[in-house]
Amino acid sequence: MARQLPLLQTDRQTVRLSDAVLDERLRGTRFVSLTPQRVLNSPKSTGMDYWSLNPYVGCEFGCSYCYARYTHRYVVERAHDAGKLTDAEFADYRGAHGWEAFEKRIFVKEHVVGALEVDLKHVPLGETIVIGTATDPYQPAERRFRVTRAVLQRLTRCEGLSFGIITKSPLIARDADLLVGLQQRNELQVHVSVITADARLARKLEARSPVPAARLRALRKLVDAGVNAGLIIAPVLPGITDAVAQLDVLFAGAKLAGARFIHAGPLRLYPAIRDRFLPVLGEHFPDLVTKYSRAYAGRGYAPRDYAKALSRRIEKLRKKHGFTTQSAMFDRYRRAKLPVQGELELRGSLP
Ligand code: SF4
Repeated sequence: MARQLPLLQTDRQTVRLSDAVLDERLRGTRFVSLTPQRVLNSPKSTGMDYWSLNPYVGCEFGCSYCYARYTHRYVVERAHDAGKLTDAEFADYRGAHGWEAFEKRIFVKEHVVGALEVDLKHVPLGETIVIGTATDPYQPAERRFRVTRAVLQRLTRCEGLSFGIITKSPLIARDADLLVGLQQRNELQVHVSVITADARLARKLEARSPVPAARLRALRKLVDAGVNAGLIIAPVLPGITDAVAQLDVLFAGAKLAGARFIHAGPLRLYPAIRDRFLPVLGEHFPDLVTKYSRAYAGRGYAPRDYAKALSRRIEKLRKKHGFTTQSAMFDRYRRAKLPVQGELELRGSLP
């Protein structure tokens, strides 16, 4: 067990506990208790069209393209500013390059149900709550800490809401019973996330995620249990995972797994991602570095023409494999703001 650390609280109230470090693994991942005052992020606070809930801060899966690293940095910087972390602890909780800590210092929102109980009173009927927008709710920590399961147990008492869950982990199949219960009086879409069916390619891009075949098997289990589950291919990486043949294999795999729907979207390359993603791109796909730099110059979104061409490609594959078009519910997951017009350097890689 590692030495003691102060408990990090998110808002309003500060309490120091003597044992905030819950566990530490051989590879150096440390799990730290976080007691949030609030657990649901409102649409107003995030600028998104839905409420969001993340049982953990940080994610051991360590996808190179993950845009959620800033959330971890935010928690650590706030704790440091409030005097809850010494300078040495702050350095450790940021990591040498500012991104490693997202993968190795995982904050666990223990005792989340009390805060959830309060927050749910502010969510009007018909609204959408998405679980897993900034961390994977079924990352390895969930096997031990079961925060997501506790959240679902409370949510099964809700009525008239829409829920979305996004995960790369087969562990979600453990909670099939709760998911079936949740969708009895609410809408539910479970998005199993896979960006490629090629396990070797996935490992280059996602440091420790479960292999794609295991995710598709979990999708099958969910569907067999009666859960409204499908596939999300996000992000689609230009020139790396966007070929028709690659996407076609994924669509076929999803069909075999019984997916009810498929959604897809192109890479967002926000500044906070670049430190982590661009070195991986340079190592494995050096020919693409200049193209990405040009295409994403001055913006986080893919060029509009690329996004439109990708949509057309996805739509053709949906038709080919017998999936319906994108649902209205998924539209609510997306930012209202559209990408700005810009250079279309990657367009040549699309039909
Ligand atoms: S699984 Fe999701 S939250 Fe975790 S690192 Fe990958 S993209 Fe980020």
